[in-house]
Amino acid sequence: MPRVSLLRDNKWLLYRLDLIWSEYFQDVTQTNPVHIRFGRYSKYRLGSIKLNRKTDRSYITITSMFKQPQIPTEVVDHTIAHELVHFAHGFSSKRARLHKYPHAGGVVDKEMKERGMWELIKAYKIWVKQYRQKLLSE
Ligand SMILES: [Zn+2]
Repeated sequence: MPRVSLLRDNKWLLYRLDLIWSEYFQDVTQTNPVHIRFGRYSKYRLGSIKLNRKTDRSYITITSMFKQPQIPTEVVDHTIAHELVHFAHGFSSKRARLHKYPHAGGVVDKEMKERGMWELIKAYKIWVKQYRQKLLSE
């Protein structure tokens, strides 16, 4: 196992992306380059993926809130995996589009379950429940 800095920077994000890709998305070829980085601090938008049509590169952006070490790694991984499902479905990627809309009929969660991401889903559910309560009490 490679040595990884515990500091949550863009390098750490790339390391998580590589791990998730090799564990759950082995059949999905990187049809165009995918980059990942922390964006601004957002409470509600945890992640996004965009395709730069000039350079044909996909950019995953993760909220800087996730730099906080108390956010479970599984929650960060869940967010990265969610964006990778969009990539696999042909949204913000050069791949064939598999659905009309990115979230139609719960396709993202369905795909994550089919790919066996039960631990990520479970960890995210627990975290998001507490997080929503915290937001309400603010
Ligand atoms: Zn989404």
